[in-house]
Amino acid sequence: MVAPTFDGEPVRPGDSMKIPMMKRYRLFGLAVLLTLVLAIAPPVLARLRPNHVVFQTSTIGALLEGVYDGVTSFEDLKRNGNFGLGTVNDLDGEMIALDGTYYQVKSNGVASVINNAMKTPFAVVTFFQPEQSARLTNIASFAALQRSLDQVVTTKNIPVAIRLTGTFASIKVRSVPRQTPPYPRLADAVKHQAVFELHNVQGTLVGFRMPLYMQGVNVPGYHFHLLTADRRTGGHLLDCRIQLASVALDYTPELRMLLPDTASFRQTNLGEGTPTEINRVEK
Ligand code: ZN
Repeated sequence: MVAPTFDGEPVRPGDSMKIPMMKRYRLFGLAVLLTLVLAIAPPVLARLRPNHVVFQTSTIGALLEGVYDGVTSFEDLKRNGNFGLGTVNDLDGEMIALDGTYYQVKSNGVASVINNAMKTPFAVVTFFQPEQSARLTNIASFAALQRSLDQVVTTKNIPVAIRLTGTFASIKVRSVPRQTPPYPRLADAVKHQAVFELHNVQGTLVGFRMPLYMQGVNVPGYHFHLLTADRRTGGHLLDCRIQLASVALDYTPELRMLLPDTASFRQTNLGEGTPTEINRVEK
C-alpha cells in the first residue's frame, strides 16, 4: 500500500511532519487570515446585533397624545431587535415580535405577520439574550405575576426584557381599532378596544419591566403582549391566571431612542400625560 503523499512524493516513515515550504507559507497565511476573521467578526456582529440594548421608536407620552403616524419601518425595526412590542401605523392593533418574526393582532383578534414596508409609531425591541431564568407556578392574576417577577428581577433601575412561556388557565388581552386622522388621544381610542378572554391556552408573553423613572418615555413597570403558541392570536395583556411558566430575562442597560421628526411629534404638547392616565390606558 502506498502511503499518503504531499505533491506526489511518497511519505516515508519519519517524514510525516515534514511539510513542503510552499505548503507551510499557505498554512501560515491561512492561520493569519483565520485569526483576523475571529478577531474582527465578534465586534462586527455585535454592531449588527447589539446585545443588551433596548431600542424604542417615539415615546409612550406621544402615543398617549395621539401621535399614531408610523415613522419607523419594520425593516428598520428588525435591524434593532428580534423581540419586543408596540403598535402599528394608525394604532392598528397590537404588535408582538418573537424570535425575529413581527406579528400584528388587529382588533378582530387575528394575528398576522407584519411585512417590512409597514411602519410603527411606537415600538420597543431588543435582540433577546436571556441572562436569567425562573419558573413560576399558580399565579392568580396579573397583579400576582408582577409581585412574583418583582422577586425575580435583580434590579428595578435597569430596563429588563422578559419572555414568559407557559400555560394560562385564563388570559385576558385587548387590541385597539385602527384610527383615522385627526387622531383621538389614546384614552379615547381605547374606549373602543376589543377585549378577548382565552382559556387553557399556551403562549408567550413578550414584554419589559421599565424603571419607574422612565415615566413619559415608556410604560413604567410591566408591559406585556401575548402571542399564543399557535401564533393565531394575542394582544396587550390585561389579566392572566398562570398554571406553569418559564421566564427568561435580559437586562438592557443601554437605551436607544429614535424620535419621530414629524410635524405632529414636534408640535404635540408632551408635558401633560399624567401617570394616572398611562396606568388607566396601559394597565
Ligand atoms: Zn401594549
